Amino acid sequence: MNIANLPIAEVLTSLKASEQGLNSADAERRLREFGYNLIEEIKGKPLWIRFLKEFTHFFALILWVAAGLAMFAELRNPDEGMWQLVTAIVGVILINGFFSFWQEYRAERAISALRNLLPQNVKVMRDGQLQTISANLLVPGDVVLFSEGDNVPADCRLIQASGVRVNTSTITGESLPKARTAAGTDIGSALEANNLLLAGTSLVSGEGKAVIFATGMHTEFGKIAHLTQTEGEAGSPLQREIVRLSKLVAMFSSILGLIFFGIGFVIGLPFWDNFMFAIGIIVANVPEGLLPTVTLSLAMATQRMAKRNALIRHLPAVETLGSTTVICSDKTGTLTQNKMTVKRIFSDGVLYPPDVVDACAINVQLLRNAQYCHSLKRSIHNSQVTWLGDPMELALAEFAKNMNDFGEAPLISEIPLDSERRRMSVVIEHSGELWLYCKGAPETIMSLCEHVDLSGVQTRLDDTARRRVSDAQEEMAGRGLRVLAFAYRKLLINEIPAEKEMVFSGLIGLQDPPRPEVPEAMERCRTAGIKVIMVTGDHPHTAVAIAREIGMVKTENPLVMHGEALRKLTPAQLQIALDSPEILFTRVTAEQKMLVVQALKRKGEIVAVTGDGVNDAPALKSAHIGIAMGIAGTDVAKEAADMILLDDNFASIVNAIEEGRAVFENIRKFLTYILSSNIPEIVPYLAFVLFKIPLPLTIIQILAVDLGTDMLPALALGAERPDRGLMQQPPRPSNERLLSWPLITRAYLWLGMMEATVAMTIFFFMLYQAGWHYGEMLNKTSSLYIQATTACLAAIVMTQVINLFLCRHPRESSLRFTLKRNPLLILGLIVELTIIFAIVYTPLGNMLFGTQPLSAEIWLLMILMALGMGLLEEIRKHFVRNRH
Ligand code: ADP
Ligand code: MG
Repeated sequence: MNIANLPIAEVLTSLKASEQGLNSADAERRLREFGYNLIEEIKGKPLWIRFLKEFTHFFALILWVAAGLAMFAELRNPDEGMWQLVTAIVGVILINGFFSFWQEYRAERAISALRNLLPQNVKVMRDGQLQTISANLLVPGDVVLFSEGDNVPADCRLIQASGVRVNTSTITGESLPKARTAAGTDIGSALEANNLLLAGTSLVSGEGKAVIFATGMHTEFGKIAHLTQTEGEAGSPLQREIVRLSKLVAMFSSILGLIFFGIGFVIGLPFWDNFMFAIGIIVANVPEGLLPTVTLSLAMATQRMAKRNALIRHLPAVETLGSTTVICSDKTGTLTQNKMTVKRIFSDGVLYPPDVVDACAINVQLLRNAQYCHSLKRSIHNSQVTWLGDPMELALAEFAKNMNDFGEAPLISEIPLDSERRRMSVVIEHSGELWLYCKGAPETIMSLCEHVDLSGVQTRLDDTARRRVSDAQEEMAGRGLRVLAFAYRKLLINEIPAEKEMVFSGLIGLQDPPRPEVPEAMERCRTAGIKVIMVTGDHPHTAVAIAREIGMVKTENPLVMHGEALRKLTPAQLQIALDSPEILFTRVTAEQKMLVVQALKRKGEIVAVTGDGVNDAPALKSAHIGIAMGIAGTDVAKEAADMILLDDNFASIVNAIEEGRAVFENIRKFLTYILSSNIPEIVPYLAFVLFKIPLPLTIIQILAVDLGTDMLPALALGAERPDRGLMQQPPRPSNERLLSWPLITRAYLWLGMMEATVAMTIFFFMLYQAGWHYGEMLNKTSSLYIQATTACLAAIVMTQVINLFLCRHPRESSLRFTLKRNPLLILGLIVELTIIFAIVYTPLGNMLFGTQPLSAEIWLLMILMALGMGLLEEIRKHFVRNRH
């Protein structure tokens, strides 16, 4: 007999459970027996396979081929010293593989750590009381309460349900919501049974109570989890661009290597020299470490963002954020604090602040209505009663109770709120009578009222009375208050509750102050060229008043588009309307939010949109960046989002955008840095071939730079904190390439050329000092030659030390940035210098890299020249700055 086929009572007894829930001792014992309610992480590929992959990808293969060729050469000609090259190249592959693996591992860890920042909580009955606990702690037999937008955390059988519809697409792949009830069924399959809620699905609508019968890996979802291996993410556009770019450069350098091999052959270079040279060109240029470094710097950005309350769910979102041009933001809770206080009351024909009257002056029906009409959940914890739910309803109920507590009354039924109707009702029993209490936006309530309650007397709601109500509403909304209308209806016995022919009892205006950080964030959006559009279900006047308060609207006439007006616009008209500089959409539904997002996308904007409800999910998915609220948001909205705001705060969006922009800039910084050093690595080879001089830099020394000294400093540039100028320029065009011409020119033709000049000068200085003259060939093992190449290598490293500072900003002076801002940079510098000193001054370094100790004066000279390079770049930056 299947659990779906049993009557509710039997379901409960079979699980030794009751509607009052388990007691905590029992729950604890069951937790020990059944374990945590977790789907064990399905490992992707085993670690060792991924480790091996680091040694077999495209670049590694090029390098293996090079090593193979050198090996072949060694076998044919044992005396040419080829074995050194073989070891070096294999060394490169190994070091590089390990480093990449480490970086990718770190990146992955960083991203999975984010997941733990957002625990999923559920409402569960324990010890006869409603409590909120982490979903991990659920056990079979627990009774759980669900409402619209909740994820189902374990397999359970419904015991009460009203209007429950679930999205089962994660399990069955079907996206149409399905109705679920508490009634028994004779369907055998757990996937089909219409009284079961399965883990991994979510409630699209309705409310329910259900008892859990399977948790963790025993759930249907747990059983199929290993089948639906989570596909690796496709990689962000940035990562794809990097892959493309690296391949291009690798091709390019291989072709370059071949061409120079040809030239060397024609001008009659000795074969093995020529061969070494070709391999050198290839090895020097292959950008082995690029992709892992980019991935890691994206991952590090997600960690910085998390510290600033923005949780990234998909890595590509980091870079998309950086190019955001429009933010469509909710009002309540995002721009405002969602801390409501009653500020004005309109009842019995008068509008007044609540503190000037005593309780008996306020319309009794209005107070009752405010106390009873809500969908709050009563929760008892340590014998203290608290209510959970919408802060506005909490404020209203609290206010009414403080004025005149009518005591608790049994809730008979509820007509829930939705963003289309903008009102809700409850039916309660009070002194043996049934009452319908309704509250909502005045526009939707007033047309359903025929009478008005004036101090307990019902009179017809005529035009004058209606006008008074709407004047009062305008008055309150103009102050930025959210206005709710209240109406009631006494039900006859057996009457079906309906919101019609009601008696209007009053208006209440609630204040919801803006979040203090928002005005500054709004100003930052302005300087950063990001447009903010408010999308709210609230009244136009309330919306405009708040918008002015936070500095979103500064002109006399912002475009305030009412949901009704929006409905009448054609897509083209909407697109044109969106050109206005200040826009507020008011009284709109979630579906209309979606229309706005789509219109903005058609205009070529990069759109970020916020949302919290189930209905917001399509808009969140459709936007470039869907942003869900971490506190007020439903699980469904979070699932659909790219980013989650842990504090629901608009200002956190702007901070995340800043970090997103910083990542892009950082990647450019380290690209500039590592591309620069390619030039002083290639120029010695060109000079060697074209001018027949001794080779100033050996291949092994090139590798010392590429895979030794350059590595950590490059990584440190990827971790730079956002620069304060970043939010003072317009968004980067989304089609802008990472590797732009100015960047290439600066790296190759300017910084790189200067480095090459320094390196070559130092090399020749050493030679001439010792009496060398042009045309003289040197023995590879002579002390002079070894020292000269050592000096050349040291000079490249020294210029890269200076270059590290120069690369911190393409235009601003390097002196503006302190090292304190980036501790990794200090570490990078220390490691860089340690490596080069170890190469120059330790016997092991000397042996491995073919070097010899240098004199102090040559160091002095190269440091002075490197500083000179810094000076030239500063001068260039100065002119560039002044040109704008
Ligand atoms: P916002 O965009 O400010 O979050 P909502 O969509 O939440 O606005 O609400 C839109 C309107 O619906 C409100 O102005 C109010 O009139 C009505 N409303 C919101 N919450 C409730 C509620 N709990 N009960 C009745 N009406 C509500
Ligand atoms: Mg809302």
